[in-house]
Amino acid sequence: MHNEYDVIIVGGGAAGIGAARRLTADGKAVLLLEASSRLGGRAFTQDLGGYPLDLGCEWLHSGDRNAWVGIAEASGFPVDRSDPPWAKAHPGIVWEEDDEEAARKAFGDWEERLRAVAQGSDRASDALEPGGEWNAYVRAIAGFMSGVAPERISAADYMAYDDASTGRNWNLPLGYGTLVAASLPPAVALRLATPVDQIDLTANGVAVSTRAGTVRAKAAILTVSTAVLAGEAIRLPSGTEPWREAAAALPLGRNEKVFLEIGRDAAFEPDSHAYGNLRDARSAAYSIRPNGWPVIEAFLGGEGACILEEEGPAAGFAHATSELVALFGSDVASAVRPLAATSWSRMASIGGAYSCALPGQSQARARLAQPFEDRLFFAGEATHPFDFSTAHGAHDSGQRAADEVLSSLSMRRLGPVRAVS
Ligand SMILES: Cc1cc2nc3c(=O)[nH]c(=O)nc-3n(C[C@H](O)[C@H](O)[C@H](O)COP(=O)(O)OP(=O)(O)OC[C@H]3O[C@@H](n4cnc5c(N)ncnc54)[C@H](O)[C@@H]3O)c2cc1C
Repeated sequence: MHNEYDVIIVGGGAAGIGAARRLTADGKAVLLLEASSRLGGRAFTQDLGGYPLDLGCEWLHSGDRNAWVGIAEASGFPVDRSDPPWAKAHPGIVWEEDDEEAARKAFGDWEERLRAVAQGSDRASDALEPGGEWNAYVRAIAGFMSGVAPERISAADYMAYDDASTGRNWNLPLGYGTLVAASLPPAVALRLATPVDQIDLTANGVAVSTRAGTVRAKAAILTVSTAVLAGEAIRLPSGTEPWREAAAALPLGRNEKVFLEIGRDAAFEPDSHAYGNLRDARSAAYSIRPNGWPVIEAFLGGEGACILEEEGPAAGFAHATSELVALFGSDVASAVRPLAATSWSRMASIGGAYSCALPGQSQARARLAQPFEDRLFFAGEATHPFDFSTAHGAHDSGQRAADEVLSSLSMRRLGPVRAVS
């Protein structure tokens, strides 16, 4: 059996596209198989109400060392380096300023205590102050970061991300998803709407099966989410059970967005921010009139995101509207109308937002990133040792896996490329 391609990439998100860029730059023949009908995965910009809104990743975290910044600038995509809106509270919110400061301090104290917890139980909830007045706030912010309750967060994993972050959060006014989807090199053979259902090892590579048939290559890079990897959708060769177990130790948290359109006469400060309720772990963070658009984006994490998963979009709109009414007054209810709500956790090809190591499982990322039998390689945000849960971490993991493939291919010197089997 001859190999039709050098490398098959499974999954066309940030990791798959990052891998494809590295491999084609080296002249390799690459096929990318993507389950859904579009590129980008959890990077998805949609034109909603005439505005390019990011349903998934939105912020160029650690912007000063984020590979997507260079890719954007090389392709003429503008990058907005100004401070993110969460640095600018919307004026006129009836918070007790002292309360907000106390809640923020409680969160900082929790993060400090995580260091000690990482040396012990590693369960982030053990860093909560027993009966602490601001524990609901800490839970909500931890939910934004990790998508789960602190009981399910490894303190060591959380600290690895936090310590590596540069704290610079930049923005792409045309959309992060737009950039990611536009960045697949034209040399890559692409098949959309082609879910992979089985991968086998062959004598000199891999056989990757879809309902359209089986394709062979010298190696494959698997970039699907940990929810997909730990599930039943793709049959992997025997011996890969430790990889599935590693994926199961890195489950995807819950993070969803609700978008509301602001009516013409409603006065909201552009590029500002509000936090819903300091005393509710389900509370959302509101990005108000991003880029000046007449839109409010509610970001929900952990318990808050579960409202959408369990009760559907109407419940998400109702939750966001009632928090906005509490913040800005009852007129808001008639000034905003539902635009869209995400459902990442319900999408079979994704299954959640981003990975978070269970307590005691921070090493699962390194285990998941290991190649299997020098044929099957693993990438995706969950495999990054510290930039996990991000699009730049996903990209870099794809490039790391591509480098592993390139060194494997140069060692192996297998048969001819592109001879049809
Ligand atoms: C609400 C939300 C907000 C976020 N905000 C940010 C942010 O501001 N900044 C940031 O950096 N990150 C953010 N993220 C995280 C970021 O989007 C992800 O970490 C990143 O996009 C993951 O990329 P990936 O390539 O690892 O995985 P994915 O994007 O999941 O790509 C995997 C691809 O594999 C495909 N696939 C699945 N099964 C199969 C199969 N059987 N066969 C073929 N293909 C298959 C999927 O359809 C998908 O396209 C956010 C995510 C969410 C959900």
